[in-house]
Amino acid sequence: MDIYKHEHNLFRKSFRKFLQEEIVPFHDKWEEIGAVPKEIWHKLGRYGFLCPWVEEKYGGFSTGFEYSAIIIEELGKAAVDIAIPLHSDVVTPYISKYGTEEQKQKWLPKCVSGEVTLSIGITEPNTGSDVSSITTYAKKDGDTYIINGQKVYISNGLNSGATVLACKTSLNEEKPHKGISLIIVEEGIDGFTKGKSMKKLGRKASEVCELFFNDCRVPVHNLLGNEGEGFTYLMENLKQERLVQTIRSQAESEEILNLTLDYTRNRRAFGKNISSFQHNQFKLVELATEIELGRTFVDKILIDYLEGHEDEKQIAMAKWWITEMANRVAYHCLQLHGGIGYMEEYPLARRFRNARMDTIAAGTTEIMKVIISKKLNL
Ligand SMILES: Cc1cc2nc3c(=O)[nH]c(=O)nc-3n(C[C@H](O)[C@H](O)[C@H](O)COP(=O)(O)OP(=O)(O)OC[C@H]3O[C@@H](n4cnc5c(N)ncnc54)[C@H](O)[C@@H]3O)c2cc1C
Repeated sequence: MDIYKHEHNLFRKSFRKFLQEEIVPFHDKWEEIGAVPKEIWHKLGRYGFLCPWVEEKYGGFSTGFEYSAIIIEELGKAAVDIAIPLHSDVVTPYISKYGTEEQKQKWLPKCVSGEVTLSIGITEPNTGSDVSSITTYAKKDGDTYIINGQKVYISNGLNSGATVLACKTSLNEEKPHKGISLIIVEEGIDGFTKGKSMKKLGRKASEVCELFFNDCRVPVHNLLGNEGEGFTYLMENLKQERLVQTIRSQAESEEILNLTLDYTRNRRAFGKNISSFQHNQFKLVELATEIELGRTFVDKILIDYLEGHEDEKQIAMAKWWITEMANRVAYHCLQLHGGIGYMEEYPLARRFRNARMDTIAAGTTEIMKVIISKKLNL
């Protein structure tokens, strides 16, 4: 199956043009301030680049996930940090899948237009990989939940108009994951405050922050789906989040290699092109081979996913292997550039820093291996 047809290529072309005209020229400045202006989200919405998969009756275009894949790939190639995939393909699906009709009507059109962007709050200062150990608690009190707790590293946290918050609504010592629920918490309500943008190693234009909940009252009708089923919803949706990360890492790797091929074919030392030394040729060949393997794997799981045969084990395999590969590629390609690779003015340094996040967010390499071990009945 060919993933991309003529209409997909047109969409890719127009998104690439948008990136080159509206984003890339300003990206360095946004990296310095650690944020993307809100108007950009509105523009993205106007051009149809947010949540294109949302049903037409809620303002979307009812497209398949392949349109999201195009956006993710182009962001990866251009090393652009805007958290579009997080908003469009990680968080909004929770509302689309588990929301009531009222919640969908309230949020989905705004998610498509960019009037509202979303974040997801799972990680806490004392727990990340072990989601079942979260301690943020939502106590039912009549027709409200009273929420207390704290979240960290929340992407798009400052910018978001609402957060899908993972919290405990009951305590079950034997099966702690059973008490987790997802609740939509809107910006600006009493008891919900946000910390400052946290300084980080890469993806600097996309902010992450802490979220604080202090006797924060949220109406019970903000619950997503059923009480106590949040863990299942998270595990279900993390598959797409991992696929998103994998697609991005693959595209990043391909771009890093292209930049390096260009550079080493032109840079000269000892009277020869850098690429003509056999050591460097072999290194480039090894990297190109790994990238080709990654492309074959990503395309396979993407096709399966589009056809509705998602395979959690293969997605976990691709997530750990391709994100680790992206780091190997970034490391060796920077070395092949010599000093200029280390300089911020050249496009490699940013890509090197960005890749480091890929093996951590959306489930670490080790957690992917834990998942695969279980699937292999080890
Ligand atoms: C840039 C960025 C953006 C993020 N955005 C969000 C967001 O929007 N929302 C959100 O909720 N979170 C977000 N996170 C948090 C991210 O999901 C967590 O950092 C990640 O899940 C790991 O959790 P942790 O940091 O607590 O590490 P820990 O869970 O403390 O793990 C530390 C180390 O121990 C290893 N480890 C843990 N358990 C095992 C095990 N069973 N076997 C072997 N090794 C193990 C891990 O792999 C890791 O190497 C973001 C993180 C980053 C870096």
